[in-house]
Amino acid sequence: MSETILAYGEFFEDKISPASLEILTPLWEISRSLQKKLLLLILSDDLKRVKEDNSLKRALCDEILVIEHQELKEFRDDLYSRVLSFVAREFHPYGFFFPATLQGLALAPRIAAELGVGLCAHVNALELEGERLIMMRPTFGDNIIAKLYSETYPIMATLALGAFSTKEGSENPIIKKFNLPQDFDWSSKMKVRAKRKTKKEINRLSVAKVVVAGGLGLKSKENFLKLFELAKYLEGEVGATRPVCYAGWTEEDRMIGISGVSVKPKLYLGFGISGAIQHTVGMENSEFIIAINTDEGAPLVKMAHVAIIADAEKILNYILKKLKS
Ligand SMILES: Cc1cc2nc3c(=O)[nH]c(=O)nc-3n(C[C@H](O)[C@H](O)[C@H](O)COP(=O)(O)OP(=O)(O)OC[C@H]3O[C@@H](n4cnc5c(N)ncnc54)[C@H](O)[C@@H]3O)c2cc1C
Repeated sequence: MSETILAYGEFFEDKISPASLEILTPLWEISRSLQKKLLLLILSDDLKRVKEDNSLKRALCDEILVIEHQELKEFRDDLYSRVLSFVAREFHPYGFFFPATLQGLALAPRIAAELGVGLCAHVNALELEGERLIMMRPTFGDNIIAKLYSETYPIMATLALGAFSTKEGSENPIIKKFNLPQDFDWSSKMKVRAKRKTKKEINRLSVAKVVVAGGLGLKSKENFLKLFELAKYLEGEVGATRPVCYAGWTEEDRMIGISGVSVKPKLYLGFGISGAIQHTVGMENSEFIIAINTDEGAPLVKMAHVAIIADAEKILNYILKKLKS
């Protein structure tokens, strides 16, 4: 087994995805403990554009390896996974990890099958027990946390979005080009005919500096939607509890907690949220927490830096009125 750990760096529309930088945080710690090199692997049609991406300047890894080829302009599962399987065979890494983005979720199973190894999906914590890497993930309807380890190498996993926060390295990693053999098969059965932007706004909840979150205490969808107005003023993102998402007040990708996203903003505002453990595990690392609740005994009120014991809707309306004027 070689002395490397590979992380997939999703490079889409000339930018590294924030999720690819997030997964470097736990992998860096593991690579230091095991004295292995952490390599971020990027596929692109233009090395220059990778070099120009400022987000990569302080990426927490030893090296950034770029495979550059004109056929890599568009993401195509079959070709990308062939390239990455080839790289994995060259390096014999200790582990090969992917962010659980659409690309990561498409690639990891294909590559694991190609290499004939196991794959652990949706991991939200990693720890070492001696030399053994333990991967944790919610299971059985999120009722228990399963601790898994791989008996095959490379260890492969997709890491949950928002589970780790991005840290910068102290130095700029070296960016190197990795050449594939002359006779490499660059063909693909897929053809990208057109690209259309999704109408849905992409939320940046996991990296937001301000999160305004709402729970059932807001009483109605209409009230909940006002949080978007507040988020706009505060340049933040809207988060929600699980029942709110299940009630259809907002999309499930705004759910904070064990079944959703983890957030670590500078400011977290919780309107009518009780603070059940399944929610708080996803926001407990917020720097400053404000809870608005009618119940002063609610767990979120107890953990908040500031609590407003009042009707959530009234406080929300009041803040919006003040901001507007
Ligand atoms: C397996 C499992 C996984 C789960 N995963 C998640 C998860 O990832 N994320 C998550 O959020 N939940 C999750 N849950 C659900 C979680 O246990 C709680 O039920 C949920 O977080 C509670 O949501 P809530 O605070 O909106 O509602 P409630 O618990 O009903 O709380 C509403 C709060 O609003 C307050 N309130 C009422 N009226 C007002 C008012 N007028 N003004 C102000 N405050 C008011 C109440 O005092 C109360 O504190 C999970 C549950 C299970 C079993």
